[in-house]
Amino acid sequence: MAYDNNNIFAKILRGEAPCFKVYEDERNIAFMDVMPQSEGHTLVIPKMAAENIFDLPPDDAASLIQATQKVAAAVKRAIKAPGLMIAQLNGAEAGQTVFHIHMHVIPRWSGADLKL
Ligand code: 5GP
Repeated sequence: MAYDNNNIFAKILRGEAPCFKVYEDERNIAFMDVMPQSEGHTLVIPKMAAENIFDLPPDDAASLIQATQKVAAAVKRAIKAPGLMIAQLNGAEAGQTVFHIHMHVIPRWSGADLKL
């Protein structure tokens, strides 16, 4: 499937849709998920147009992981979460709903339900 320039994260990247941005570097941004699975649920996305993990060149993939590591550490520290999940879905069949690659950073507490 070809990358759809009208997906919501492409609009956020172009400044055409709002977001609560918490991090930015040369290749990535991070912002709060609008329908959080837990307090502090944050999304990290590359600026490059890529639908999924398979479309991301190695340099951008490495940069996305590094950004995710930084964001995850900051989120975990800021809200004192005992655990933290990082998830990334590829394809509608896997549950992907926004077709611009994104890393979910989801703080976890024991006993809390999660539906990704
Ligand atoms: P997926 O199911 O594709 O892995 O996750 C997409 C995520 O994007 C969901 O957690 C959903 O809540 C989030 N999301 C969808 N639309 C928006 C939006 O307009 N703004 C923000 N900040 N998050 C969004």
